[in-house]
Amino acid sequence: MYVSTRANYQKVTAAQAIAMGMVPEGGLFVPETIPALSLAELKPQMGKSYKEWACWILEKYLDDYTAEEIQNCIAQAYSPDNFDHPDIAPLVELDDHMFIMELWHGPTAAFKDMALQLTPYLLTTAIKKLAIEKKVVILVATSGDTGKAALEGFKDVPGTEIIVFYPAHGVSEVQKLQMVTTTGRNTHVVAVEGNFDDCQSALKEIFVDKELIAKLEAKGYQFSSANSINWGRLLPQIIYYFASYSNLVRDQRIAFGDVVNFVVPTGNFGNILAGWYAKEMGLPIGKLVCASNENKVLTDFFQTGRYDRKREFKQTNSPSMDILISSNLERFLYAMTGNDGAKVAKWMQELQTVGEFQVDAQTKTAIDACVCGGFANEDQTLETIHTCYEQHHYLLDTHTAVALKVYQDYQQSTHDDRVVIIDSTANPYKFVSSVYQAVNPLSEEEKTDDLQLLEQLQALSKMLVHRGLLDLDKKEVRHEACCARADIKNQITTILNL
Ligand SMILES: *Cc1c(COP(=O)(O)O)cnc(C)c1O
Repeated sequence: MYVSTRANYQKVTAAQAIAMGMVPEGGLFVPETIPALSLAELKPQMGKSYKEWACWILEKYLDDYTAEEIQNCIAQAYSPDNFDHPDIAPLVELDDHMFIMELWHGPTAAFKDMALQLTPYLLTTAIKKLAIEKKVVILVATSGDTGKAALEGFKDVPGTEIIVFYPAHGVSEVQKLQMVTTTGRNTHVVAVEGNFDDCQSALKEIFVDKELIAKLEAKGYQFSSANSINWGRLLPQIIYYFASYSNLVRDQRIAFGDVVNFVVPTGNFGNILAGWYAKEMGLPIGKLVCASNENKVLTDFFQTGRYDRKREFKQTNSPSMDILISSNLERFLYAMTGNDGAKVAKWMQELQTVGEFQVDAQTKTAIDACVCGGFANEDQTLETIHTCYEQHHYLLDTHTAVALKVYQDYQQSTHDDRVVIIDSTANPYKFVSSVYQAVNPLSEEEKTDDLQLLEQLQALSKMLVHRGLLDLDKKEVRHEACCARADIKNQITTILNL
Protein backbone atom coordinates (compact mmCIF):
# COMPACT_ATOMS: atom_id res chain seq x y z
CA MET A 1 0.00 0.00 0.00
CA TYR A 2 0.98 3.64 -0.48
CA VAL A 3 0.90 6.46 2.07
CA SER A 4 1.23 10.24 1.91
CA THR A 5 4.56 11.90 2.78
CA ARG A 6 2.52 14.39 4.83
CA ALA A 7 0.44 11.87 6.80
CA ASN A 8 -2.73 13.57 5.55
CA TYR A 9 -4.45 10.86 3.51
CA GLN A 10 -5.64 7.29 3.75
CA LYS A 11 -3.61 4.36 2.44
CA VAL A 12 -4.15 3.60 -1.24
CA THR A 13 -3.16 0.79 -3.62
CA ALA A 14 -0.46 1.20 -6.26
CA ALA A 15 -3.09 1.61 -8.99
CA GLN A 16 -4.83 4.35 -7.02
CA ALA A 17 -1.56 6.16 -6.31
CA ILE A 18 -0.62 6.09 -9.98
CA ALA A 19 -4.08 7.14 -11.19
CA MET A 20 -4.17 10.09 -8.78
CA GLY A 21 -0.64 11.36 -9.48
CA MET A 22 -0.29 13.13 -6.16
CA VAL A 23 -2.10 13.30 -2.84
CA PRO A 24 -5.17 15.55 -3.29
CA GLU A 25 -4.43 17.29 0.03
CA GLY A 26 -0.81 17.98 -0.96
CA GLY A 27 2.00 15.47 -0.45
CA LEU A 28 3.38 12.59 -2.48
CA PHE A 29 2.59 8.90 -2.41
CA VAL A 30 5.35 6.59 -1.18
CA PRO A 31 5.36 2.83 -0.60
CA GLU A 32 4.49 2.04 2.99
CA THR A 33 7.38 -0.42 3.14
CA ILE A 34 10.32 -0.75 0.78
CA PRO A 35 10.93 -4.34 -0.34
CA ALA A 36 14.30 -5.47 1.01
CA LEU A 37 16.45 -8.18 -0.55
CA SER A 38 19.42 -10.08 0.79
CA LEU A 39 22.55 -10.58 -1.31
CA ALA A 40 21.63 -14.26 -1.50
CA GLU A 41 18.32 -13.35 -3.13
CA LEU A 42 19.97 -10.87 -5.45
CA LYS A 43 22.79 -13.08 -6.70
CA PRO A 44 20.78 -15.45 -8.92
CA GLN A 45 19.29 -12.41 -10.70
CA MET A 46 22.66 -11.25 -12.08
CA GLY A 47 22.89 -11.16 -15.86
CA LYS A 48 19.14 -10.93 -16.36
CA SER A 49 17.85 -8.77 -19.19
CA TYR A 50 16.45 -5.29 -18.69
CA LYS A 51 12.88 -6.50 -19.18
CA GLU A 52 13.41 -9.31 -16.67
CA TRP A 53 14.71 -6.81 -14.12
CA ALA A 54 11.74 -4.59 -14.88
CA CYS A 55 9.24 -7.38 -14.16
CA TRP A 56 11.05 -8.45 -11.04
CA ILE A 57 11.11 -4.95 -9.55
CA LEU A 58 7.63 -3.87 -10.60
CA GLU A 59 6.07 -6.99 -9.12
CA LYS A 60 7.52 -6.04 -5.76
CA TYR A 61 5.90 -2.61 -5.79
CA LEU A 62 2.68 -2.87 -7.77
CA ASP A 63 0.71 -4.79 -5.17
CA ASP A 64 -2.60 -4.80 -7.03
CA TYR A 65 -1.36 -5.43 -10.59
CA THR A 66 -1.30 -9.01 -11.88
CA ALA A 67 1.97 -10.50 -13.19
CA GLU A 68 0.39 -10.60 -16.63
CA GLU A 69 -0.55 -6.92 -16.55
CA ILE A 70 2.99 -6.02 -15.56
CA GLN A 71 4.51 -8.15 -18.30
CA ASN A 72 2.25 -6.56 -20.89
CA CYS A 73 3.19 -3.06 -19.82
CA ILE A 74 6.89 -3.88 -19.94
CA ALA A 75 6.81 -5.67 -23.28
CA GLN A 76 5.22 -2.63 -24.91
CA ALA A 77 7.40 -0.04 -23.22
CA TYR A 78 10.85 -1.55 -23.73
CA SER A 79 10.38 -2.91 -27.25
CA PRO A 80 13.18 -2.65 -29.83
CA ASP A 81 11.06 -0.05 -31.65
CA ASN A 82 11.38 2.25 -28.66
CA PHE A 83 14.96 1.57 -27.57
CA ASP A 84 17.77 1.10 -30.06
CA HIS A 85 20.12 -0.92 -27.83
CA PRO A 86 19.58 -4.47 -26.51
CA ASP A 87 20.71 -3.43 -23.01
CA ILE A 88 18.16 -0.54 -23.07
CA ALA A 89 20.52 1.45 -20.81
CA PRO A 90 23.99 0.44 -22.04
CA LEU A 91 27.22 1.14 -20.15
CA VAL A 92 30.26 2.73 -21.77
CA GLU A 93 33.62 2.19 -20.12
CA LEU A 94 35.65 5.39 -19.82
CA ASP A 95 38.29 3.67 -17.72
CA ASP A 96 38.31 0.54 -15.59
CA HIS A 97 36.76 2.40 -12.66
CA MET A 98 34.36 4.68 -14.46
CA PHE A 99 31.32 3.84 -16.53
CA ILE A 100 28.79 6.04 -18.25
CA MET A 101 25.23 4.69 -18.19
CA GLU A 102 23.53 5.97 -21.34
CA LEU A 103 19.92 6.59 -20.41
CA TRP A 104 19.00 8.24 -23.70
CA HIS A 105 18.42 5.43 -26.19
CA GLY A 106 14.66 5.99 -26.14
CA PRO A 107 12.66 7.95 -28.74
CA THR A 108 13.30 11.51 -27.48
CA ALA A 109 17.01 11.32 -26.60
CA ALA A 110 16.65 12.08 -22.88
CA PHE A 111 16.52 9.84 -19.83
CA LYS A 112 12.86 10.74 -19.28
CA ASP A 113 12.02 8.06 -21.87
CA MET A 114 13.25 5.37 -19.47
CA ALA A 115 10.17 6.03 -17.34
CA LEU A 116 7.78 7.74 -19.69
CA GLN A 117 7.66 4.91 -22.20
CA LEU A 118 6.23 2.81 -19.36
CA THR A 119 4.17 5.28 -17.29
CA PRO A 120 1.25 5.54 -19.79
CA TYR A 121 0.80 1.75 -19.70
CA LEU A 122 0.95 1.69 -15.91
CA LEU A 123 -1.58 4.49 -15.79
CA THR A 124 -4.06 3.12 -18.33
CA THR A 125 -3.85 -0.28 -16.64
CA ALA A 126 -4.61 1.41 -13.31
CA ILE A 127 -7.61 3.22 -14.79
CA LYS A 128 -8.96 -0.02 -16.22
CA LYS A 129 -8.43 -1.89 -12.95
CA LEU A 130 -10.18 0.78 -10.93
CA ALA A 131 -13.02 0.93 -13.47
CA ILE A 132 -12.62 4.71 -13.63
CA GLU A 133 -14.93 5.87 -16.37
CA LYS A 134 -13.27 9.25 -16.64
CA LYS A 135 -10.87 10.48 -19.25
CA VAL A 136 -7.46 11.25 -17.71
CA VAL A 137 -5.90 14.64 -18.32
CA ILE A 138 -2.14 14.51 -17.90
CA LEU A 139 -0.70 17.84 -16.84
CA VAL A 140 3.04 18.26 -17.30
CA ALA A 141 5.44 21.00 -16.28
CA THR A 142 8.73 20.63 -18.10
CA SER A 143 12.16 22.17 -18.07
CA GLY A 144 12.46 20.74 -21.58
CA ASP A 145 12.93 16.99 -21.64
CA THR A 146 9.93 15.65 -19.72
CA GLY A 147 7.57 17.47 -22.07
CA LYS A 148 8.62 15.71 -25.23
CA ALA A 149 9.06 12.34 -23.53
CA ALA A 150 5.58 12.57 -21.98
CA LEU A 151 4.05 13.70 -25.28
CA GLU A 152 5.57 10.73 -27.09
CA GLY A 153 4.53 8.36 -24.31
CA PHE A 154 0.91 9.52 -24.17
CA LYS A 155 0.39 10.44 -27.82
CA ASP A 156 -2.86 8.86 -29.04
CA VAL A 157 -3.21 6.73 -25.90
CA PRO A 158 -7.00 6.16 -25.69
CA GLY A 159 -8.75 7.79 -22.73
CA THR A 160 -6.08 10.45 -22.20
CA GLU A 161 -5.40 14.09 -23.02
CA ILE A 162 -1.97 15.54 -22.35
CA ILE A 163 -1.16 19.22 -21.77
CA VAL A 164 2.47 20.31 -21.47
CA PHE A 165 3.69 23.67 -20.12
CA TYR A 166 7.28 24.75 -20.75
CA PRO A 167 9.21 27.96 -19.94
CA ALA A 168 9.11 30.01 -23.15
CA HIS A 169 12.74 31.11 -22.86
CA GLY A 170 14.13 28.27 -20.76
CA VAL A 171 14.53 25.41 -23.23
CA SER A 172 16.99 24.77 -26.06
CA GLU A 173 15.96 25.29 -29.68
CA VAL A 174 16.07 21.55 -30.27
CA GLN A 175 13.92 20.85 -27.21
CA LYS A 176 11.34 23.41 -28.29
CA LEU A 177 11.16 22.09 -31.84
CA GLN A 178 10.77 18.56 -30.54
CA MET A 179 7.73 19.60 -28.50
CA VAL A 180 5.93 21.96 -30.86
CA THR A 181 6.09 19.51 -33.77
CA THR A 182 4.46 16.68 -31.81
CA THR A 183 1.65 14.92 -33.66
CA GLY A 184 -1.29 13.10 -32.07
CA ARG A 185 -4.97 13.86 -31.47
CA ASN A 186 -4.68 14.33 -27.72
CA THR A 187 -1.51 16.44 -27.40
CA HIS A 188 -1.36 20.10 -26.31
CA VAL A 189 1.74 22.23 -25.73
CA VAL A 190 1.83 25.72 -24.19
CA ALA A 191 4.80 28.07 -23.70
CA VAL A 192 4.75 30.00 -20.40
CA GLU A 193 6.31 33.41 -19.75
CA GLY A 194 8.16 32.23 -16.64
CA ASN A 195 10.64 29.60 -15.52
CA PHE A 196 10.20 25.90 -14.75
CA ASP A 197 9.41 26.49 -11.08
CA ASP A 198 6.57 28.81 -12.16
CA CYS A 199 5.13 26.06 -14.36
CA GLN A 200 5.52 23.38 -11.71
CA SER A 201 4.11 25.47 -8.84
CA ALA A 202 1.10 26.50 -10.93
CA LEU A 203 0.32 22.87 -11.70
CA LYS A 204 0.74 21.82 -8.08
CA GLU A 205 -1.88 24.44 -7.17
CA ILE A 206 -4.18 23.16 -9.89
CA PHE A 207 -3.93 19.57 -8.66
CA VAL A 208 -5.40 20.67 -5.32
CA ASP A 209 -7.87 23.25 -6.72
CA LYS A 210 -11.15 21.81 -5.43
CA GLU A 211 -13.35 24.06 -7.56
CA LEU A 212 -11.58 23.21 -10.79
CA ILE A 213 -11.54 19.52 -9.94
CA ALA A 214 -15.30 19.59 -9.43
CA LYS A 215 -15.79 21.24 -12.83
CA LEU A 216 -13.52 18.67 -14.35
CA GLU A 217 -15.42 15.77 -12.83
CA ALA A 218 -18.70 17.13 -14.12
CA LYS A 219 -17.22 16.94 -17.61
CA GLY A 220 -15.98 13.38 -17.11
CA TYR A 221 -12.28 14.21 -16.64
CA GLN A 222 -9.73 13.55 -13.92
CA PHE A 223 -6.23 15.02 -13.61
CA SER A 224 -3.07 13.03 -13.28
CA SER A 225 0.60 13.83 -13.59
CA ALA A 226 3.47 12.57 -15.69
CA ASN A 227 6.03 14.45 -13.61
CA SER A 228 8.12 12.49 -11.18
CA ILE A 229 5.72 13.45 -8.41
CA ASN A 230 3.72 10.50 -9.82
CA TRP A 231 4.92 7.17 -8.40
CA GLY A 232 4.29 5.59 -11.81
CA ARG A 233 7.01 7.80 -13.17
CA LEU A 234 9.52 7.25 -10.39
CA LEU A 235 9.22 3.49 -10.08
CA PRO A 236 10.53 2.60 -13.59
CA GLN A 237 13.72 4.51 -12.78
CA ILE A 238 14.69 2.00 -10.11
CA ILE A 239 15.12 -0.65 -12.81
CA TYR A 240 18.26 0.72 -14.43
CA TYR A 241 20.17 0.88 -11.17
CA PHE A 242 19.77 -2.88 -10.80
CA ALA A 243 20.24 -3.61 -14.50
CA SER A 244 23.47 -1.61 -14.74
CA TYR A 245 24.97 -3.31 -11.69
CA SER A 246 23.95 -6.67 -13.12
CA ASN A 247 25.59 -5.82 -16.46
CA LEU A 248 28.86 -4.95 -14.74
CA VAL A 249 28.81 -8.36 -13.07
CA ARG A 250 27.86 -10.07 -16.34
CA ASP A 251 30.72 -8.34 -18.16
CA GLN A 252 33.14 -9.17 -15.32
CA ARG A 253 33.90 -5.54 -14.59
CA ILE A 254 33.02 -6.06 -10.92
CA ALA A 255 32.54 -9.11 -8.71
CA PHE A 256 29.08 -9.71 -7.28
CA GLY A 257 28.83 -7.90 -3.96
CA ASP A 258 31.31 -5.13 -4.84
CA VAL A 259 30.02 -1.74 -3.77
CA VAL A 260 29.66 0.87 -6.53
CA ASN A 261 28.90 4.60 -6.43
CA PHE A 262 26.48 6.45 -8.69
CA VAL A 263 26.67 10.08 -9.76
CA VAL A 264 23.39 11.64 -10.84
CA PRO A 265 22.86 14.99 -12.56
CA THR A 266 19.93 16.25 -10.57
CA GLY A 267 16.98 18.61 -10.94
CA ASN A 268 13.74 17.42 -9.40
CA PHE A 269 15.59 14.70 -7.39
CA GLY A 270 13.64 11.91 -9.10
CA ASN A 271 16.48 10.02 -10.74
CA ILE A 272 18.74 10.01 -7.70
CA LEU A 273 15.82 9.09 -5.44
CA ALA A 274 15.24 5.98 -7.58
CA GLY A 275 18.91 5.16 -6.90
CA TRP A 276 18.28 5.54 -3.21
CA TYR A 277 15.34 3.11 -3.42
CA ALA A 278 17.64 0.62 -5.16
CA LYS A 279 20.20 1.02 -2.38
CA GLU A 280 17.54 0.64 0.27
CA MET A 281 16.29 -2.53 -1.42
CA GLY A 282 19.74 -4.02 -1.00
CA LEU A 283 21.68 -3.23 -4.17
CA PRO A 284 25.35 -2.72 -3.14
CA ILE A 285 25.53 1.04 -3.64
CA GLY A 286 28.01 3.14 -1.64
CA LYS A 287 27.50 6.87 -2.18
CA LEU A 288 24.92 8.57 -4.33
CA VAL A 289 26.52 11.78 -5.51
CA CYS A 290 24.00 14.51 -6.29
CA ALA A 291 25.35 16.79 -9.04
CA SER A 292 23.87 20.25 -9.56
CA ASN A 293 24.60 23.22 -11.79
CA GLU A 294 24.77 26.77 -10.44
CA ASN A 295 21.19 26.46 -9.18
CA LYS A 296 22.85 24.61 -6.34
CA VAL A 297 20.08 24.59 -3.80
CA LEU A 298 20.72 20.87 -3.18
CA THR A 299 24.50 21.20 -2.82
CA ASP A 300 23.94 23.80 -0.12
CA PHE A 301 21.27 21.66 1.50
CA PHE A 302 23.52 18.62 1.74
CA GLN A 303 26.26 20.79 3.21
CA THR A 304 24.18 22.66 5.80
CA GLY A 305 20.86 20.87 6.28
CA ARG A 306 19.14 24.11 5.32
CA TYR A 307 17.02 24.21 2.17
CA ASP A 308 16.75 27.77 0.92
CA ARG A 309 15.03 28.51 -2.35
CA LYS A 310 15.23 32.28 -1.85
CA ARG A 311 17.88 32.96 -4.43
CA GLU A 312 18.18 34.09 -7.98
CA PHE A 313 17.14 31.55 -10.56
CA LYS A 314 19.93 31.06 -13.09
CA GLN A 315 19.45 29.97 -16.65
CA THR A 316 22.37 27.67 -17.47
CA ASN A 317 23.69 25.47 -20.25
CA SER A 318 22.23 22.44 -18.45
CA PRO A 319 18.62 23.71 -18.52
CA SER A 320 16.95 20.46 -17.45
CA MET A 321 18.56 21.00 -14.04
CA ASP A 322 17.57 24.66 -13.69
CA ILE A 323 15.30 24.01 -10.73
CA LEU A 324 15.09 25.53 -7.25
CA ILE A 325 12.31 23.37 -5.83
CA SER A 326 13.22 19.71 -6.08
CA SER A 327 9.88 17.98 -5.57
CA ASN A 328 11.13 14.49 -4.85
CA LEU A 329 13.29 15.62 -1.97
CA GLU A 330 10.04 15.41 -0.04
CA ARG A 331 9.96 11.63 -0.49
CA PHE A 332 13.60 11.37 0.56
CA LEU A 333 13.01 13.48 3.67
CA TYR A 334 10.07 11.28 4.60
CA ALA A 335 12.39 8.28 4.63
CA MET A 336 15.24 10.12 6.36
CA THR A 337 12.99 11.19 9.24
CA GLY A 338 11.90 7.58 9.77
CA ASN A 339 8.55 8.21 8.02
CA ASP A 340 7.60 11.27 10.07
CA GLY A 341 4.81 12.78 7.94
CA ALA A 342 4.09 15.58 10.41
CA LYS A 343 7.68 16.79 10.26
CA VAL A 344 7.74 16.68 6.47
CA ALA A 345 4.42 18.54 6.26
CA LYS A 346 5.83 21.29 8.50
CA TRP A 347 8.98 21.69 6.38
CA MET A 348 7.02 21.76 3.14
CA GLN A 349 4.72 24.39 4.63
CA GLU A 350 7.76 26.48 5.59
CA LEU A 351 9.22 26.07 2.14
CA GLN A 352 6.03 27.41 0.62
CA THR A 353 5.47 30.30 3.02
CA VAL A 354 8.98 31.45 4.04
CA GLY A 355 10.99 29.84 1.27
CA GLU A 356 13.24 27.75 3.48
CA PHE A 357 13.44 25.05 6.12
CA GLN A 358 16.10 23.47 8.29
CA VAL A 359 16.23 19.75 9.07
CA ASP A 360 17.15 18.46 12.54
CA ALA A 361 20.54 16.91 13.36
CA GLN A 362 19.28 13.34 13.36
CA THR A 363 17.78 13.68 9.88
CA LYS A 364 20.96 15.34 8.66
CA THR A 365 23.06 12.42 9.89
CA ALA A 366 20.81 9.94 8.13
CA ILE A 367 21.13 11.94 4.89
CA ASP A 368 24.92 12.18 5.12
CA ALA A 369 25.21 8.41 5.36
CA CYS A 370 24.03 7.87 1.78
CA VAL A 371 24.05 11.08 -0.25
CA CYS A 372 26.48 13.93 -0.85
CA GLY A 373 26.30 16.86 -3.23
CA GLY A 374 28.43 19.09 -5.41
CA PHE A 375 28.01 21.51 -8.29
CA ALA A 376 29.72 22.68 -11.46
CA ASN A 377 29.44 26.06 -13.16
CA GLU A 378 28.93 26.62 -16.88
CA ASP A 379 32.62 27.01 -17.77
CA GLN A 380 33.56 23.88 -15.85
CA THR A 381 30.79 22.04 -17.70
CA LEU A 382 32.17 23.02 -21.10
CA GLU A 383 35.75 22.28 -20.04
CA THR A 384 34.70 18.80 -18.92
CA ILE A 385 33.04 18.10 -22.28
CA HIS A 386 36.20 19.29 -24.01
CA THR A 387 38.59 17.21 -21.92
CA CYS A 388 36.47 14.06 -22.09
CA TYR A 389 36.29 14.36 -25.87
CA GLU A 390 40.06 14.87 -26.13
CA GLN A 391 40.89 11.98 -23.80
CA HIS A 392 38.26 9.41 -24.68
CA HIS A 393 36.76 10.64 -27.95
CA TYR A 394 33.44 10.48 -26.12
CA LEU A 395 30.83 13.23 -26.34
CA LEU A 396 29.09 14.20 -23.12
CA ASP A 397 26.00 16.37 -23.01
CA THR A 398 26.05 19.32 -20.60
CA HIS A 399 24.09 17.57 -17.82
CA THR A 400 26.29 14.49 -17.85
CA ALA A 401 29.34 16.78 -17.91
CA VAL A 402 28.14 18.43 -14.69
CA ALA A 403 27.99 14.97 -13.16
CA LEU A 404 31.48 14.00 -14.31
CA LYS A 405 33.00 17.23 -12.99
CA VAL A 406 31.25 16.84 -9.63
CA TYR A 407 32.48 13.27 -9.42
CA GLN A 408 36.07 14.32 -10.17
CA ASP A 409 35.89 16.85 -7.32
CA TYR A 410 34.33 14.25 -5.03
CA GLN A 411 37.00 11.71 -5.88
CA GLN A 412 39.80 14.22 -5.25
CA SER A 413 38.53 15.23 -1.87
CA THR A 414 37.54 11.77 -0.61
CA HIS A 415 39.90 9.40 -2.48
CA ASP A 416 36.91 7.08 -2.71
CA ASP A 417 38.10 4.80 -5.51
CA ARG A 418 35.17 2.44 -5.78
CA VAL A 419 33.82 1.77 -9.26
CA VAL A 420 31.50 4.58 -10.29
CA ILE A 421 28.58 4.72 -12.69
CA ILE A 422 27.70 8.15 -14.04
CA ASP A 423 24.09 8.54 -15.15
CA SER A 424 24.11 10.09 -18.62
CA THR A 425 20.77 11.81 -18.90
CA ALA A 426 20.76 13.22 -22.42
CA ASN A 427 22.20 12.53 -25.82
CA PRO A 428 24.83 15.22 -26.60
CA TYR A 429 23.00 16.34 -29.75
CA LYS A 430 20.06 17.47 -27.66
CA PHE A 431 22.20 20.36 -26.35
CA VAL A 432 24.22 20.74 -29.48
CA SER A 433 25.11 24.44 -29.32
CA SER A 434 26.86 24.09 -25.95
CA VAL A 435 28.45 20.77 -26.84
CA TYR A 436 29.74 22.03 -30.17
CA GLN A 437 31.10 25.16 -28.54
CA ALA A 438 32.94 22.99 -26.03
CA VAL A 439 34.67 20.69 -28.51
CA ASN A 440 35.24 23.19 -31.31
CA PRO A 441 34.76 26.84 -30.32
CA LEU A 442 33.27 28.96 -33.09
CA SER A 443 33.89 32.63 -33.72
CA GLU A 444 30.90 35.02 -33.70
CA GLU A 445 30.69 34.92 -37.52
CA GLU A 446 30.79 31.14 -37.65
CA LYS A 447 27.94 30.71 -35.19
CA THR A 448 24.82 29.21 -36.68
CA ASP A 449 21.55 27.65 -35.64
CA ASP A 450 21.20 24.38 -33.76
CA LEU A 451 19.97 22.37 -36.71
CA GLN A 452 23.07 23.21 -38.77
CA LEU A 453 25.23 22.44 -35.78
CA LEU A 454 23.74 18.96 -35.54
CA GLU A 455 25.20 18.17 -38.94
CA GLN A 456 28.50 19.86 -38.22
CA LEU A 457 28.93 17.98 -34.95
CA GLN A 458 28.13 14.71 -36.68
CA ALA A 459 30.74 15.42 -39.35
CA LEU A 460 33.31 16.27 -36.68
CA SER A 461 32.67 13.48 -34.19
CA LYS A 462 31.43 10.73 -36.52
CA MET A 463 28.81 9.94 -33.92
CA LEU A 464 25.36 9.59 -35.50
CA VAL A 465 22.69 12.17 -34.66
CA HIS A 466 20.00 10.58 -32.46
CA ARG A 467 17.02 9.48 -34.56
CA GLY A 468 14.63 11.57 -32.46
CA LEU A 469 16.45 14.76 -33.50
CA LEU A 470 16.50 14.26 -37.27
CA ASP A 471 14.53 16.49 -39.66
CA LEU A 472 13.10 18.71 -36.92
CA ASP A 473 13.02 21.65 -39.32
CA LYS A 474 10.96 19.69 -41.85
CA LYS A 475 8.17 18.92 -39.42
CA GLU A 476 5.04 21.03 -39.12
CA VAL A 477 4.79 23.29 -36.05
CA ARG A 478 1.48 22.25 -34.49
CA HIS A 479 1.54 24.01 -31.11
CA GLU A 480 1.98 27.77 -30.87
CA ALA A 481 0.09 28.71 -27.70
CA CYS A 482 1.86 30.99 -25.20
CA CYS A 483 0.59 32.36 -21.90
CA ALA A 484 1.50 34.18 -18.67
CA ARG A 485 2.03 32.17 -15.48
CA ALA A 486 -1.24 33.52 -14.08
CA ASP A 487 -3.05 32.25 -17.16
CA ILE A 488 -2.15 28.58 -16.92
CA LYS A 489 -5.44 27.64 -15.32
CA ASN A 490 -7.37 29.48 -18.06
CA GLN A 491 -5.41 27.64 -20.72
CA ILE A 492 -6.46 24.35 -19.20
CA THR A 493 -10.14 25.25 -19.01
CA THR A 494 -10.04 26.50 -22.61
CA ILE A 495 -8.29 23.43 -23.97
CA LEU A 496 -10.68 21.10 -22.15
CA ASN A 497 -13.68 23.25 -22.93
CA LEU A 498 -14.77 23.36 -19.26
C1 LIG B 1 15.19 15.72 -16.09
C2 LIG B 1 16.64 15.76 -16.34
C3 LIG B 1 17.55 15.80 -15.29
C4 LIG B 1 17.12 15.86 -13.84
O1 LIG B 1 16.53 14.68 -13.40
P1 LIG B 1 15.67 14.68 -12.04
O2 LIG B 1 15.08 13.34 -11.97
O3 LIG B 1 14.62 15.74 -12.23
O4 LIG B 1 16.59 15.01 -10.94
C5 LIG B 1 18.91 15.79 -15.60
N1 LIG B 1 19.33 15.77 -16.87
C6 LIG B 1 18.48 15.75 -17.91
C7 LIG B 1 19.02 15.77 -19.29
C8 LIG B 1 17.11 15.74 -17.68
O5 LIG B 1 16.27 15.70 -18.72
